[in-house]
Amino acid sequence: MRIIVQNAKCQGHARCAALAPHIFKLDDAGYILPGNIEVAEGEGLTASRGARSCPERALKCDRDPAARVEPDVIPPRVRRA
Ligand code: SF4
Repeated sequence: MRIIVQNAKCQGHARCAALAPHIFKLDDAGYILPGNIEVAEGEGLTASRGARSCPERALKCDRDPAARVEPDVIPPRVRRA
């Protein structure tokens, strides 16, 4: 999983870092550091909580496509004679 960081939206609220300081690193002024964040295995839930805590929506979760749960394909109904 990866966190897409949109620095231009960051307003320095530091909520992300308050929830997961080891994942979301801030600069001295309290703004998130530039660059996307590769999330270590087992840290996905913490990272997504931190991303969702951002009131500016500056952080977006990008999950591994292989890990996405696709809805089951519902087969079309078969007409009975
Ligand atoms: S919560 Fe959002 S606005 Fe606040 S520091 Fe983190 S990324 Fe920036």
